[in-house]
Amino acid sequence: MNERILVVGAHPDDVDYIASGTMIKWSLMGKEVYYLVCTDGDKGGTRNDLTTDKLIEMRRSEQRAAAKIVGARDVFFLGKRDGELTPDLELREEIVRIIRKIRPQKVFSFDPANRAFDSFHRYHTDHRAAAIAVFDAVFPAAKNRMYFPHLLEEGLEPHKIDELFFCVTKEPNYWVDISGVIETKIECIKAHKSQFQGEHAGTIENRVRQWCREVGKAKGYAYAEAFRRIAFPY
Ligand SMILES: [Zn+2]
Repeated sequence: MNERILVVGAHPDDVDYIASGTMIKWSLMGKEVYYLVCTDGDKGGTRNDLTTDKLIEMRRSEQRAAAKIVGARDVFFLGKRDGELTPDLELREEIVRIIRKIRPQKVFSFDPANRAFDSFHRYHTDHRAAAIAVFDAVFPAAKNRMYFPHLLEEGLEPHKIDELFFCVTKEPNYWVDISGVIETKIECIKAHKSQFQGEHAGTIENRVRQWCREVGKAKGYAYAEAFRRIAFPY
């Protein structure tokens, strides 16, 4: 059976920034990639000609298009409001539901250890909330049948993942060489058209290249993504 991977982002486009290079490679290797997007990103971008509903529709469709480029099997949306994600019991349960449904061996999300507040995007309130909610969903809630017992009635049995990967981390211990797929990663990011206006649109490609080049330096890769990986010991 193919290995299954779940990548959890706070907004449409997060998963493409934080892990799409790795997912493109692994998808080509036959691994099954799934995306879970917690909020609708309904406050993202600078366009003032769109209603909230129209923006939500666009962002979901852009995320599906990017997932298609990656070769992801499916994209799940929790439909939370942008900027209002809270790592509460409700969010934990919704993430547990998807984990038990997909039964991934590997889960990716933001790093809850990121608390330096030295970059605006990295410490976005929704990124912080998603990081904590995913950690708490993976352990112990997803693997313990006493959590959310009504999920058992939905046929969702407990599931223990093997490894958790934290993205955009300060302390990486796992690098993936994405030199061969950097163009495709950029294509995925550019699929989020609603987020690129004016100057931002012209510089995104260079900024992504520069970021992945920096990350690759530690291992001598032209371009890389890096993660902090923790594994269950048994
Ligand atoms: Zn985000």
